[in-house]
Amino acid sequence: MKFQVPKGTQDILPSETWKWQRAEKIINEVCDVYRYKEIRTPIFEQTELFQRLVGETTDVVQKEMYTFTDKGDRSMTLRPEGTASTVRSFVENKMFGYADQPVKLFYTGPMFRYERQQAGRYRQFVQFGAEAIGSADPAIDAEVIALALDVYKRVGLTKLKLVINSLGDSECRVAHRAALIDHFNPHIGEFCGDCQSRLEKNPLRILDCKVDSANPLLASAPSLADYLNEASATYFADVKGYLDDAGIAYEVDTNLVRGLDYYNHTAFEIMSTSEGFGAITTLCGGGRYNGLAEEIGGPSAPGIGFAMSIERLLLAMAAEGVSFEAEPALDVYIVTLGESARRPGFKLLGELRAAGIRADMDYMDRKLKAQMKSADRLDAKNVIIIGEDEVTEGVVQLKNMMDSTQEKVPFTELIAKLIATLNV
Ligand code: ATP
Ligand code: MG
Repeated sequence: MKFQVPKGTQDILPSETWKWQRAEKIINEVCDVYRYKEIRTPIFEQTELFQRLVGETTDVVQKEMYTFTDKGDRSMTLRPEGTASTVRSFVENKMFGYADQPVKLFYTGPMFRYERQQAGRYRQFVQFGAEAIGSADPAIDAEVIALALDVYKRVGLTKLKLVINSLGDSECRVAHRAALIDHFNPHIGEFCGDCQSRLEKNPLRILDCKVDSANPLLASAPSLADYLNEASATYFADVKGYLDDAGIAYEVDTNLVRGLDYYNHTAFEIMSTSEGFGAITTLCGGGRYNGLAEEIGGPSAPGIGFAMSIERLLLAMAAEGVSFEAEPALDVYIVTLGESARRPGFKLLGELRAAGIRADMDYMDRKLKAQMKSADRLDAKNVIIIGEDEVTEGVVQLKNMMDSTQEKVPFTELIAKLIATLNV
């Protein structure tokens, strides 16, 4: 029997994990600068949470959820996204009562969607997301967008495009919805089965259909922009004003809808404009969700947030040809010669590590030449050679691999000397 990773998932091997760690470090640093604090919620939740908050008519809920019945006969779902859990926790932990509002949170962790696998689309992927809950100030919309863009800038991406739209409030949506139904109804036979059922339930979703995306009726559909009431139009103008002031360039796309149901007012996406990027160019999606906390029995708590996957961030870096600074080399590799040098060598290894020096030694009983080769392969900055004579004399041979010099150093002076040269 041959075992493989499940379709749509991947092993991230040590040759790659360091890049994930770098990306996550930058995410943590940027969030810290913006004063967003990390929240960690469970990887599974009651299925109903996603049905209620993500929306029954979305692709995510209709087709993509990993839902199972647990031994207590409860329907549970592996989280397909992070906003529902964050808002659930906000309500459950009464964060609306915190003196410090809005509550600014971020998360990084695996999400699960049963999707068709393709480049940049996995069934398990890691999303970083940020949420600011408790404020309906258009400035916070601009802040959240700036935060997402800063993460991309800090990893070195430059070929980015920010696209924004306003989905208005519920009043505009009702009028727009009626216009959409009138527009699509006479031709609904041309659309996929999903769109046909969306017509009555949520016609806005038709605009986001992956199957019918080329149908010209989408481009000619009534635009939400023409249905924005005064309050929504003012809100959108304010968000754009704050973005202008922050020097953040954007394009307005009145057809930008987003894949989840909970958005109102501001919706945005950040795309890669790099030529090397494949079919999927969206790196990050987000928007405002003012009714979400109320939807699960909480008080009115307007929120805005976004999510981006680390997978697509790394793909965008590869497409643009930018990379993280390489891993620092190993500081010291210890080569031991003969039985009597092994134990002093191992003891020294422990002392080096205790001093914060990144060190390793041979565990394969290799000969001198092969040990030196290992040191080379591991890109060691220094090699310490200990033989029987060195043990008797209380010294080591310290070889600096950067300039190929070698000197005898007493055991007692070794660590201080290494610390001085390595800057550890
Ligand atoms: P798409 O239109 O690509 O399916 P979406 O609207 O489903 O995206 P969101 O739910 O808004 O995406 O998720 C936000 C971000 O999470 C996306 O912009 C993308 O970076 C990432 N993402 C979503 N689904 C996947 C996936 N299956 N694999 C990797 N990353 C994903
Ligand atoms: Mg999707």
